[in-house]
Amino acid sequence: MPRWNRSRAIAGCTALVVALAGPVLAQDPADEPSEWQMPASWTNPVEPFQIADDLYYVGTEQLSSFLFATSAGLVLLDAPMQQNVDKVLASIRTLGFDPGDIRYLIASHGHFDHVGGLASMQEATGGRIVLSALDAPLVANGGRGDFFLGDTAPYAAVESDRIMAPGDVLRLGGLELTANLTAGHTKGCTSWSAYVQVAGKSRKMVVVCSLSVLEGYHLAGENPSYQGIARDFCNSVRALRRLGAEVFLASHPSFFSMQAKASRLSHDPEAFVDPAGLDRYLDRARASIERTLAEQGVATGCSG
Ligand SMILES: [Zn+2]
Repeated sequence: MPRWNRSRAIAGCTALVVALAGPVLAQDPADEPSEWQMPASWTNPVEPFQIADDLYYVGTEQLSSFLFATSAGLVLLDAPMQQNVDKVLASIRTLGFDPGDIRYLIASHGHFDHVGGLASMQEATGGRIVLSALDAPLVANGGRGDFFLGDTAPYAAVESDRIMAPGDVLRLGGLELTANLTAGHTKGCTSWSAYVQVAGKSRKMVVVCSLSVLEGYHLAGENPSYQGIARDFCNSVRALRRLGAEVFLASHPSFFSMQAKASRLSHDPEAFVDPAGLDRYLDRARASIERTLAEQGVATGCSG
């Protein structure tokens, strides 16, 4: 395991965005000049907006947060970075909701850029923390002891109120959110799916956790980043393909071309219905996984 300082850890997370999103982030991770500098796009505020009847975007330019509204209260998916907590809360209020109505705080995965603000968000809202069984211990350690980042990217630790096994369903006021385990990027990386109403039609929606292979992950060889990581990555691509979601969202807006779609919403309420975009994302992810496997001596890719 190489030694990773903080700037390398941040660079790794930046690299994952670049790797799957193409030139959206022009910044070269190698140019990161100081320890905690990160892309401005991670904290740049954007106007919150509606994606489906009871689903809203309340994140920043390149770190997602999604708000589900139900008759029994709200669910917030991801509380990225401490620096973003006030922005997310402000976006929720701008939409006319009361953050105090948040019943559940759920998350894609236990990296700092998606749960770094979870402890503060819980304090501000009183929401119950709901995490996957395999990432809950990482979040309870404040990101320390990550199989790859080690202790280099810590955040305020928080205990889960409820643990989700793969396939478990979180129910609130008619909303049914399924916790699909899509491991690899982290051991408990979770892609949440649900049916939402878009322009009068019920559509299956997924918020993809991440399939990014961080620079330095060992998928093959005698010392993989964790035992079974290659199998997990490959199975996650298959599981997301099988899910058959039509509304494609993810933990980083660049993964699903959020800005382009949001700009079309005024004349196209189905702008986020994009099964082909999800397929293309999965194609790119699989290619990246298989490229890494090939570099590490496994020529058979995900079929091996
Ligand atoms: Zn991550």
